[in-house]
Amino acid sequence: MARLIMLGPPGAGKGTQAQRLCAKLGIPQISTGDMLRAAVAAGTEMGKAADSYMSAGKLVPDEVVVGIVKDRLAQDDAQGGFILDGFPRTVPQAEALEEAGVALQGAINVVVPAELLVERVTGRVTCRDCKSMYHTKYNPPAKDGVCDNCGGTDLYTRSDDTEEVFRQRLTSYEAKTAPLVAFYQSRSLCHDVDGVGDLDEIQARIEAIVVSLQG
Ligand SMILES: [Zn+2]
Repeated sequence: MARLIMLGPPGAGKGTQAQRLCAKLGIPQISTGDMLRAAVAAGTEMGKAADSYMSAGKLVPDEVVVGIVKDRLAQDDAQGGFILDGFPRTVPQAEALEEAGVALQGAINVVVPAELLVERVTGRVTCRDCKSMYHTKYNPPAKDGVCDNCGGTDLYTRSDDTEEVFRQRLTSYEAKTAPLVAFYQSRSLCHDVDGVGDLDEIQARIEAIVVSLQG
């Protein structure tokens, strides 16, 4: 039984690691965005409530999102555990989840130094022609500026991945989401994982924590 949330700044690789852990444990990764869309499509009471906010261009209030999360976690496939993705993002949301009786077993906090995050994210380039992705330092094409896959020469940086935009995302994370780390620490639920290294190494560190939680 693993009822988990992954914490960590943008670019830390927590989405990738959450996917790997879910595949390994055979549990669902529960994404708030997917859940909201499904609840609206199914026309549940909470889905209708969420829809009334979204169609008015407003943010869906935390109580409604918590209601949808709770409904989702009651489904069969989540009875053996789950990883929450994208929620809670703030301390008030975490408190609302707790008040709704959703008890997490652990928060896995993927730790990566800020300068390394900037290097990881701002080095990403995509081929305009075939959408192949590279990293100028970690996964460069064989010939500088030329796509290995299609020979295209227009390798561009997405606008989200420029240093200025990415540093804004990091600042926003520090202000809104990083306090969640302290929140889960105060409940002895937070487990830091060194997020520097290759994907398999990081996955092994996370699995060791999950095993210790089952013990
Ligand atoms: Zn290409």
